[in-house]
Amino acid sequence: MDVILKNISKSYDGRTALKNVNLSIKRGERVVIFGPSGCGKSTLLRIIAGLLPPDYGEVWIGGNIASKNGKVIIEPRRRNVGMVFQELALWPHMSVREHLKFVLKSRRVPRSEMEERIRKMLNMMNLNEYADARPPQLSGGQQQRLALARALIVNPAILLLDEPLSSLDIRMSLKLRREILSLHERLRFSMIYVTHSRDEALQMGSRIVLMKEGTVEKIIDRAEAKEFFENLFREID
Ligand code: ADP
Ligand code: MG
Repeated sequence: MDVILKNISKSYDGRTALKNVNLSIKRGERVVIFGPSGCGKSTLLRIIAGLLPPDYGEVWIGGNIASKNGKVIIEPRRRNVGMVFQELALWPHMSVREHLKFVLKSRRVPRSEMEERIRKMLNMMNLNEYADARPPQLSGGQQQRLALARALIVNPAILLLDEPLSSLDIRMSLKLRREILSLHERLRFSMIYVTHSRDEALQMGSRIVLMKEGTVEKIIDRAEAKEFFENLFREID
């Protein structure tokens, strides 16, 4: 689904986190939000998910107004949005299977469908063998896959990922990037991927939104981004 942000602003206790953010994401597109720590990336994702209202501005999802001027109009679970949080936010007392079941129950998916959908998702994410394991028993990569599975089990039209691989070593990060791209290829959700890593940005986005101090500085395609990052390196050298 399309996501359109119009003039989004947000402050925390009088301190500006986002200022006049405009952004339009097309159905099936892969967009990366890139910028340094504290520039407002997570705040922006939470506003798109409906977990946080913008103080001003509008969020449109699939042609419907979802948030406006301090109000969440469409609540998060009716937005058709899946989210993977930076800190994953898994439930330590629940098994892998229970994570998925819990989400399906909360969306009132009929019992008869549940088992089949869980089975398919466990297969897709290579978590079959770990269906009964709890998060503390899983490796970093497996925890990441569980967070992805939990987001994707409701077939979201939009997937929001907030620095999902930042806790993994480089080898595992590269592996999961490829897996996420292949999931996108298959499932065709719109993807909004937050990172502060340059090579991750180039790999995951067909467009890259450069953020700085709560504003969108520039929106560029991959070729422009390559050049932009090379120049950044040159400035530092
Ligand atoms: P990023 O994800 O790019 O690191 P955030 O969206 O988390 O940026 O934060 C943007 C700014 O808002 C930062 O200055 C941060 O300290 C502040 N901030 C974020 N969340 C809160 C909060 N819950 N309460 C107060 N300030 C916050
Ligand atoms: Mg963040």
